[in-house]
Amino acid sequence: MANTEPYRTPNESNDTPVKLELRDTSVSFSMDRGESRVLDSVSMEVYDGEILGVVGESGSGKSMFASAMLDAIEAPGELTGEVVYHTGDGETVSVLDLSPSELRTLRWESIAMVFQGSHSSWNPTMSIRGHFNETLSYHDFDVGAGMDRANRLLSELYLDPERVLESYPHELSGGMKQRALIALSLILKPDVLVMDEPTAALDLLMQRSIIALLDAIQDEYDLTLVFITHDIELVADLADRLAVMYAFEIIEAGPADHVLLDSSHPYTRSLVNSTPNLETPIEKMQPIPGEAPDPVNVPTGCSYSPRCQLADERCRTEDPPMIDAGNAHESACHYVEHVDEEIPLSITDVTVQ
Ligand code: SF4
Repeated sequence: MANTEPYRTPNESNDTPVKLELRDTSVSFSMDRGESRVLDSVSMEVYDGEILGVVGESGSGKSMFASAMLDAIEAPGELTGEVVYHTGDGETVSVLDLSPSELRTLRWESIAMVFQGSHSSWNPTMSIRGHFNETLSYHDFDVGAGMDRANRLLSELYLDPERVLESYPHELSGGMKQRALIALSLILKPDVLVMDEPTAALDLLMQRSIIALLDAIQDEYDLTLVFITHDIELVADLADRLAVMYAFEIIEAGPADHVLLDSSHPYTRSLVNSTPNLETPIEKMQPIPGEAPDPVNVPTGCSYSPRCQLADERCRTEDPPMIDAGNAHESACHYVEHVDEEIPLSITDVTVQ
């Protein structure tokens, strides 16, 4: 069940402006067996210039969170609540009130998105140069200046611009296509980049290399980055803050190192303990028992209670609100102060492989 009061994750210094926010945002589908609520009253602020990592198991609502930010929920899904984009010059844009053409402009020129796997994003009959040209022309950008930027972006992503621009998508490897897609998504100078599992189809080495490249381009292009992944270790070193999703809600959020090394929610601690890292031999990893809840039938009280080793009667009947865990860190657990003693963590340092 959702917390009835939407919450805001506090900014550590409280002086960075908000760039993008979801306010009490839900996504639901009507099904024969009932309402499937795949994003449940989520409120979250993304601060200007930060890297927010959103993590959770498959089926936790992460992709719906990403799609909601761009009003990209496909019918028959229903998106409610508010999505507000702050332009940076004092204006705010209510994303869910935009016309289709305004939304198309916002999606490329203000908030760009890179989805999992690059295959379906490319037209197989068009060269990579054609994709850049078409995008620049469609949005009335200067093609010459835009192609200069494309060359620079591709080089910064360690691609050979000449070779890549003349290639067709099938002539590039998965890692090259994904890097070219990141360059394409940045061609119209958006100030927010939302990435949904952008490295999931790539090998470990390429994943780590793209993370390092994102770190560099985020800084250089002054981007606000939302990085969505099931892999908490992958994003830990990149993100400034982490938000953890479970059962279609955010159940913990705060500075990345606090959330990883001092998690205050049993689910996050189990997620960390179930994730491979350099400090834990594979035989000591502990998978999380049980299964993620069915969106038509989310447990009453705390949605994690059927899987939580600390659950008691209160947990099964009372939905925990977000509780301040200190240091701009919040957690939706009744027993936030006991979690660290009861569930020891298997890592002691933020370690990206
Ligand atoms: S509220 Fe109870 S069931 Fe939920 S995470 Fe905390 S201890 Fe576990």
